[in-house]
Amino acid sequence: MSRQRIEAQRGCAFVMSRGETLRVIDPSGEQVADFIAFARADVGEWLSSGRTFDYNNTIYLTAGHVLYSNRSRPLLTITADTVGRHDFLYTPCSQETFDLLYKVEGHHPSCLENLATNLRPFGIGIDQIPTTFNIFMNVEIGSEGTLSILPPSSKAGDYLEMRAETDLVVGLTACSAEMSNNYRLKPIDFELSTDRPAERDTAKSR
Ligand SMILES: [Zn+2]
Repeated sequence: MSRQRIEAQRGCAFVMSRGETLRVIDPSGEQVADFIAFARADVGEWLSSGRTFDYNNTIYLTAGHVLYSNRSRPLLTITADTVGRHDFLYTPCSQETFDLLYKVEGHHPSCLENLATNLRPFGIGIDQIPTTFNIFMNVEIGSEGTLSILPPSSKAGDYLEMRAETDLVVGLTACSAEMSNNYRLKPIDFELSTDRPAERDTAKSR
């Protein structure tokens, strides 16, 4: 599939089949993309930050790590990562984030709103959206456990790739929170690929 773009402060949702790879690209640098996944067979099974931390024994997830569901099944494997720093602690930014934390007056676009809008056709409601895997989000943890949101380490063209380990419904955004994106809201690109070299070789030899 060719490259697709999520415009600034927008989101999308789509299905992934087992074996497909999603490449999430930061086209301009310093832009976060919030990601969430549900099992297509039963959306009561979802990507769990807690289970993922349990089985990887780290909160810093990168190439080689498996992302687990609330039912402890592998949903995705990170197969490539040119950045090496992402967040799985923070929930997707929401209207309440902007009301309570940033004291914004009136409506503000948010990842939660964008995910909810796009996941609704798949039968997933806003209250079913858990903590997102915040690709390129750079969170520093102080010695006392204090969290600081820093500009993403991603440069233009950096990417993270994940392979689906089961059939999924996924949601992806170009994050709307000013601070997480060094105060410049930018698009996110992605590519969905079924092009697995091993399979291609097998097909050729038949
Ligand atoms: Zn956001």
